[in-house]
Amino acid sequence: MSNNEYDVVIVGAGCAGPAAAKKAAELGLKVILFEKSQVPGEKNVSGTCLNGAALIDPDLHYLMEGPVEREIREMRTYHINKDRTTVFHEIPSEGLLLLSIRRDHYDAWHVEEAAKAGAEVRLSTTILDIIEEDGYVKGVITDTGEKFYGKVVIDAAGVNSIVGRKAGLIPKRKGSNMILYVTVCVELGEEIIDERFGDCIEYYLSPGIQHKTWPWIFPKKDTVTLGTGGYMDEHLLNDEFPNINKYMENYMNLPIVKKKLEGGKIVAWGLHLEYDEKIEQRVKNGLILTGEAGGFVIPFLGEGMVEAYFTGIYAAQAAAKAIETNDFSKEKLAETYETLISENLFMQTFRHIAAVNKEAILTKTDEEITQMMQQVIMGGGFISNAVHTNWMKGVEDQDMERIQDAYDFLELMQPYAQVDPYFENLYNERKRK
Ligand SMILES: Cc1cc2nc3c(=O)[nH]c(=O)nc-3n(C[C@H](O)[C@H](O)[C@H](O)COP(=O)(O)OP(=O)(O)OC[C@H]3O[C@@H](n4cnc5c(N)ncnc54)[C@H](O)[C@@H]3O)c2cc1C
Repeated sequence: MSNNEYDVVIVGAGCAGPAAAKKAAELGLKVILFEKSQVPGEKNVSGTCLNGAALIDPDLHYLMEGPVEREIREMRTYHINKDRTTVFHEIPSEGLLLLSIRRDHYDAWHVEEAAKAGAEVRLSTTILDIIEEDGYVKGVITDTGEKFYGKVVIDAAGVNSIVGRKAGLIPKRKGSNMILYVTVCVELGEEIIDERFGDCIEYYLSPGIQHKTWPWIFPKKDTVTLGTGGYMDEHLLNDEFPNINKYMENYMNLPIVKKKLEGGKIVAWGLHLEYDEKIEQRVKNGLILTGEAGGFVIPFLGEGMVEAYFTGIYAAQAAAKAIETNDFSKEKLAETYETLISENLFMQTFRHIAAVNKEAILTKTDEEITQMMQQVIMGGGFISNAVHTNWMKGVEDQDMERIQDAYDFLELMQPYAQVDPYFENLYNERKRK
């Protein structure tokens, strides 16, 4: 193989990219990973909490060794409407819920792990185009015009990937299926965060601070990040909300939030788009789309990192199988890739929760959502809503099949409905490494 020829070429070193690079290198493949920023993750202040229910999958155990800011053990949800404020405070009797991370630290660590496994890494390099010959994607072209060839190209370039778009797999998006997020990072210092937030993440629901999404505050070591936003339908912006930042201003001005942020300094304010749309075809001859480029994100639940790690790893496995048989056709790549995805129970169940919740919530006003969530036990607000929606609809339509489906889903969810102390034990073991 000459200098610019590789088994696998990977674009993007966020979540999916380093996971794919590490796995591919461990499988003995010659691999190169491109990232446009100088420090991986430096633009991604948003994605911040890793879901423990996914990390118990052996494929993801190594991720527990990365730099964690806070171990999240509690969850508090405020439902504020004009008549009342309801607070649900959940503290599992044992076990960890989530790991709060900083992407600039965590992604950089992950890239180092991929390099240690043998992957070549090129930072500050933007991929501008793909090389296609005889109906196969054969490589990529950098911003300096250099060409790099790969038997398989893995697209891990995230929500706005140019690779998937150039290959014709990422379609033009519809505005109504996008969520526009505003995020703010506030520096408060470790002691104050210990006092005011501790190891608890907070969600807020109140008319005027969001449009059909769930504003949150996630504590890190000495900063907290706040996020809010809304579905980009015709009601997102209007006379009262001339721009999206107004939701964030209202959020930060809620008396309870204002008090918690008192004395803090805003160190970052950013906008992010999330597409809530399925990508019909995630594989092409010589190319696999992973993570957000492949539509593996649940913006509605604010979850996409673990999906990106899983799909990055599966794409590397699919590439290795294709290389073994010297067959890089989309059928061969899809055979391994799609099978591994469909066997992942975590990804399937969370997709289901998101779809049912989205259907139930997009039809309601923000006032109704707050009201409704006050009725839902927050032990698993989204899970309960997903189950109830189907169950009640089944009763209404006298459709036993729908009731049975809801029941089966409840059974399927059992492993994720409670916090498994196994995760904390595993995490403690890995952390010591
Ligand atoms: C506000 C917000 C909050 C979120 N919170 C959470 C959360 O708490 N938990 C969770 O699980 N998920 C969360 N998510 C979702 C999560 O951030 C994404 O799903 C996840 O980052 C997707 O990983 P990825 O590897 O596909 O893409 P990314 O992490 O976006 O990585 C893509 C990488 O590719 C690079 N790149 C792009 N184009 C090129 C190019 N042409 N050449 C070279 N490099 C390129 C980018 O610089 C970037 O580093 C959140 C998202 C948002 C917007």
